[in-house]
Amino acid sequence: MAYDPDNIFAKILRGEIPSTRVYEDDDTLAFMDIMPRADGHLLVIPKTPCRNLLDASPAQLAAVMATVQKLSHAVMAAFGAEGVTIQQFNEAAGGQEVFHLHFHVLPRHEGERLRPPG
Ligand code: 5GP
Repeated sequence: MAYDPDNIFAKILRGEIPSTRVYEDDDTLAFMDIMPRADGHLLVIPKTPCRNLLDASPAQLAAVMATVQKLSHAVMAAFGAEGVTIQQFNEAAGGQEVFHLHFHVLPRHEGERLRPPG
């Protein structure tokens, strides 16, 4: 499937719509999810166009996963979490709603459930 350069995360990357940015390097950006399913719920994206995992290059995956790992440690420490859940969805049938590759980073506390989407 083609990459749509007008998806919401592409607009966030270009600064056309606001977001709460928490981390940035040459290859990746992280910002807070607008509808957090846990306190500290982050999204990590590559800066280059990529629809989802299915069309990601090894270099994009390596960069994004390095940031996911780095921010997992940071967000667990910041929120006093004992664990972290990483979620990622591909195509509408797989639950994807925004068509720019992203990984959810969800700090978790023992016995606490994720809040429902929306
Ligand atoms: P997914 O594609 O992973 O199923 O869901 C997209 C995620 O992006 C959802 O968790 C949703 O809350 C988040 N999201 C959608 N629109 C925006 C937005 O404009 N800003 C931010 N920060 N997050 C968004």
